[in-house]
Formats: sequence, structure tokens, C-alpha cells
Amino acid sequence: LGNKLQDILDRVGKERQLTEAQVKAAMREIRMALLEADVNFGVAKDFVARVGEQAVGQQVEGSLTAGQTVVKVVHDELIQTLGGKTAQPELRAEGNVWFMVGLQGAGKTTSTGKLASLYKSKGRRVLLVAADTQRPAARDQLEVLARQVGVPILKVADGESPAETRRRVDEHLKTDFRDLVIVDTAGRLQIDEALMDQLADLQAAMQPTESLLVVDAMTGQEALNVAQTFDRRVKVTGLVITKMDGDARGGAALSARSVTGKPIYFAGTSEKISGLEPFYPDRVAGRILGMGDVLGLIERAQQADLKAMEVKKPGDFDLEDLLTQLRQIRKMGPLGDLLKLIPGMSRALPEGFNVDEAQIQRVDAMISSMTVKERRNPKIIDGRRRKRIAEGSGHTVQDINRLLKMHEQMKDMMKMLGRMQGGKPGAKMPR
Ligand code: GDP
Ligand code: MG
Repeated sequence: LGNKLQDILDRVGKERQLTEAQVKAAMREIRMALLEADVNFGVAKDFVARVGEQAVGQQVEGSLTAGQTVVKVVHDELIQTLGGKTAQPELRAEGNVWFMVGLQGAGKTTSTGKLASLYKSKGRRVLLVAADTQRPAARDQLEVLARQVGVPILKVADGESPAETRRRVDEHLKTDFRDLVIVDTAGRLQIDEALMDQLADLQAAMQPTESLLVVDAMTGQEALNVAQTFDRRVKVTGLVITKMDGDARGGAALSARSVTGKPIYFAGTSEKISGLEPFYPDRVAGRILGMGDVLGLIERAQQADLKAMEVKKPGDFDLEDLLTQLRQIRKMGPLGDLLKLIPGMSRALPEGFNVDEAQIQRVDAMISSMTVKERRNPKIIDGRRRKRIAEGSGHTVQDINRLLKMHEQMKDMMKMLGRMQGGKPGAKMPR
């Protein structure tokens, strides 16, 4: 999306209120980004329509460009759609029963083990129930996890009725008090009516306080259908999105959340028992847009005092400006990171331009050894002056040559970035 966003920034310029045309142009790209992140087609379409309407007429904040403002509106709305803040499952003092459902391979059994581990560490007394009688090894898989975590497990027998399972769980609780029972169930590779019936029966017998749908982040387009069907047949109260450590960009999370309206409680982030985190809507929103870098830049632009980054005119960028900027940039964090954040910067940077902290200090020293006249008009820095500056700052003439060349290149870059912003005198550095 980086380059596309660049194009938007090129197109939407200096107006202070987002126009319909600007928003429309940006929304096309946003829709593409959503589809690329595997957000369901219909969900993406609705989202873009809703946010587009909202964005038109929005005020462009002082330090932002119009394109960045659109991105911000989209990002904020995406966070809201994903649930706003992180949410936790309901947890009573006792009598909690969590019912895990989802397709085969979604990560139910793994997540059941992870939840047992997490809530045991929070002081809960957990009992696991292995109710996946579909595959012979499924109950053993959970047993291994139960042993690893150090919690008891009750295995459902082949052909056991839901009522019998319920009775056996109650029996267990009489002699071994547990305040959180987590039931791992069977899945199928695809939605299957027989499975849904079976799950509904077991759910009715277990009377869970939470029914958690486990969705594989890699499910992509299919996530919507899966979530919808499970929610219809086995009323879902919350979601767990697994395999967020993979390549998937999170579209499944948005689809599942949109269609069920249920909170996403957790994200699975590895195969390990510790790989379960609260679901952070803001992080996933950035990931879905694939523009975490741009968003970071927007945030920093809003936070930092960037007065010093204003240049008189792109073409007037002199060594004094360079010095001021380098010092400013140093305050803002690792330079490499920051430069990468600026849209188009990776394209615009002179070849071999790679400044680290030590190098900034060297440049600082060299420019500090120049007279104000030299800084303002680098053209007058001839051989004699170069020698003097080199000696004064403890560098070689070659170092000074390199600095002056870099400055020339940066000046060109400023001009280019200036054009991107409308190219008017007084234009600010893009943020
Ligand atoms: P189930 O059929 O729904 O019970 O799925 P499993 O719990 O057996 O998981 C299926 C596969 O996905 C296993 O190989 C797990 O190790 C893997 N898995 C589950 N959750 C995650 C996750 O969050 N990240 C990664 N990388 N793998 C996961
Ligand atoms: Mg399983």
C-alpha cells in the first residue's frame, strides 16, 4: 500500500477540509487494502461506504496532510469496528463454564490449553473437559496440555451422551472444587449440520457461561461464513483469533467480529502454551491497513514539536536547516526508523544514505565549524574553506565533500517532497 498511499498524498493536497473527491480516491485504496488483508468482500464494502461518508468534510489537522487525515479516520473507525478496547471474558467467582467451538484445525485444543495456563496463573482452579470424540488422538492431545499446565482433565467417553458428560463433570466438582471448566469440542473441516446439532446438544447440557468461537486468522474470506453459521447454531459470546503470528493480516478478525458483533477476547500468537495475548484492536487495525509505519509517523507528527522542521521554501534548504533538522530528528528517536516512516522517503533518499547516531554527531560537528555565512550559502565553501572546516571539526576534506554532496541531494529531496505538498513557499516538511 505504501506506494499507493504515496499517490493519494500526491493527489490530495493542501485543502483544509476533506473533499468528496479526495475521500473517494483514498477509499478506493483503503478498500483494496482491506481486500488484500482478506477482509470479507461485503464487510470491506460496507466499511468503506460508512467511513467514506464520515470522512467527507473532516477538518485536516494542522500537522497532517489530507491523505494522512483520511488514513487516521479509517484507522480510528477500524479500531472501533474491531471492538475499541481489549475485552475480557466474563468471569464469576465460581461456576464458570467455557465452551470452545470452531472448525477442525482452528486451534481449539491449543487455545484450551493456553486458557488453562493463563487462568491458572491468575489463581483460577481450572478443569479441562476433552469432548472431542471425533478424532481418536484429540483427547490425548488435550491430556498432554493438561499435564503440562498442571490441571485435571475429564475425558468424554466414546458415545457418551451430553447429559452423562454433564453428570460426570458435576460429580468431579463435588470432590475437587473448580471455578473454571473449559470444554474442548470436536470440529470439522467444513461447516457440517451433524456437527452443529451435536455441539448444540452438548452446549445445552453444559450451560456454558461463555461460548468461544475459535477462528484461524488464515481462514480469510471464509471467516465470515464460519462465524455466521456457528453464531446462528451455537450462540457465540466471544471470539478467539488464532495464528496471528502467521502471514495473515487480520482480515478474518474484522470479518468475524463484524458479522457476529461479538468481542474478540484473545489472539493466538504462537504454538506454545504461552502464545495467547489479549486482542489489541489498534495493533490489528494497523496490520489490516498494512500501514503501521505510516500510522506511527502520524502519531509522532502529532506528538513532536516540529516547528523546527518548517523550511522557508523547499529550494532554500540550507546547511543551517539541515543541522536544525538533524538535531530535531535525533530527539525523535532512531533516525533510520523515522526516515522509513516518511511516505516516499525510501524512494527519495539518496543512494547510500544511511545515517546513524554517530554520523549525525559528525555532521553536527562539521556544520558547527562553519560560519553562518557558509551555512546559509554552501556554494561559497571552496577548497580553502573545506580544509579549514575539516581541521576545525576533526574531519578530512573528503568528509566535508561528502557532507556537501549529501546536503545537495537532500535539498533535491526537499524540493520533491515540497512538490508533493503543493509546492507553495512556506510549505512544511511532510510528516
Ligand atoms: P483444533 O482442531 O481446533 O483443536 O486445532 P489445534 O488446537 O489442534 O491446532 C491446530 C494446529 O494449529 C496445531 O498445529 C497448533 O499448534 C496450531 N496452532 C493453534 N494456535 C496457534 C497459534 O496461535 N499460532 C500458531 N502458529 N499455531 C497455532
Ligand atoms: Mg482439537
